[in-house]
Amino acid sequence: MPRYHVKILGPDYDAMADLVRTYNVTVARHTAEKLVEGGYRIDAHATGTQIRRLEAAGYTVDRYEDADKTGKARQAEIRKLKKTVEAEDHLVAAAPQYLNVAQVESALAAAASAPNESFTKLITLPRKTWENRVCHALKIGKGEGANRPGIYFLGGVHAREWGSCDILINFVQLLTQAYRTNTGVTLGTKTYTAAQIRSIVNTKDIVVFPQANPDGRNHSMTKDAMWRKNRRPAPAGHAEAQCVGVDINRNYDFLWNYTRYFDPAAPIANSKDPCEAEVYIGPRAMSEPETKNAVWLFDQFPNISYFIDVHSYSEAILFNWGDDTNQINDPGMNFQNAAFDGKRGIATDAEYKEFIDSADRTAIVALANRMRDAIKTVRGRNYNVQQSVGLYPTAGTSDDYAFSRHIVDAGKAKVYSYTIEWGAASNPTPFHPPYSEMMMIIREITLALLEFCFRAK
Ligand SMILES: [Zn+2]
Repeated sequence: MPRYHVKILGPDYDAMADLVRTYNVTVARHTAEKLVEGGYRIDAHATGTQIRRLEAAGYTVDRYEDADKTGKARQAEIRKLKKTVEAEDHLVAAAPQYLNVAQVESALAAAASAPNESFTKLITLPRKTWENRVCHALKIGKGEGANRPGIYFLGGVHAREWGSCDILINFVQLLTQAYRTNTGVTLGTKTYTAAQIRSIVNTKDIVVFPQANPDGRNHSMTKDAMWRKNRRPAPAGHAEAQCVGVDINRNYDFLWNYTRYFDPAAPIANSKDPCEAEVYIGPRAMSEPETKNAVWLFDQFPNISYFIDVHSYSEAILFNWGDDTNQINDPGMNFQNAAFDGKRGIATDAEYKEFIDSADRTAIVALANRMRDAIKTVRGRNYNVQQSVGLYPTAGTSDDYAFSRHIVDAGKAKVYSYTIEWGAASNPTPFHPPYSEMMMIIREITLALLEFCFRAK
């Protein structure tokens, strides 16, 4: 069944909420716009059948791309170039195409394997994926000490968002090479001096896990370009392709079971049916090896106090919370309080709002603004700094899980957590734009990550 990138226009909040509550459309949540002339518009992808249903219900749907056709064209570009380009030079700046699964792994290993290295460490993650792949992370940091802040970058969670792995590999290569050669880094009009690079590596631990879902990435790059989930086998009796996989970024232990089944009024797309939607939450919280690996790093490095999960798209820097609108006055109104079960997940009402400490909120936003300003120096793109919830709440995501850890268990570090959604909705194949455009995005986000490392205390 062909899928299309579409823009959907609806008259009011309820109509937009119904896109996920009733019509099960996969929306690009952070592209929702309130139009001056009235109504809302959002980027989504939908099948022909879904489009006809929506049109019959009064929505205006503009198709702008056959997602499967353009995805196939992008896969063909990779295959053609991979035949002629040897992968011995992994520097993304010199590579003409997206790194495949093996290249991401070998680039990470190469960054860790320089002779006489004492500031990088390759880490083998404990869980193999469903297709038996072994994952690795890299820790960058010279020296020891309990007071060193830990910074954790995660990428490649959603299979089709190809550029996230390339961004993190580029970041690793730039930072390690600059440190090794005692030089600075210049991207766009911004420069970090050799001394600034040294101060990052000598005083902080940076943990980079660039390819959390290699099975999904491989599937997206070779078969179904729009694939999002991991590759957990379909339940017995289900041969349909869409019944495979769990959405790793709905599988974390944060309000995991908070779906629209639990609360039919809330426009939370999360699904308990593996065959129904791309946002299948899995059989249990943390059921997936990929989720367990991502969480294991938090536990392995208890000094981690900053976290960014790199996704696409919508040119946004998102901060907590994702389950409802924030409030700063009532600490008792929070995700752990069962008295509010069934009341969360509607962004426009006052019945429930998620508590965030006012000082934390200020610090979190200030750091996000630093990243936004860094991105802007490359070519003027203006990323939106916004609360994750937007029009559409979520549950079970990595950033909310990360920030909830210290609330659930006071013995754990407070982790300021973000999701970056790179790339514009207007790009062709926005999840994996042409590589010339991706290279500009790689510069922008690499710069944001460097700025983040520099400012995180
Ligand atoms: Zn994503």
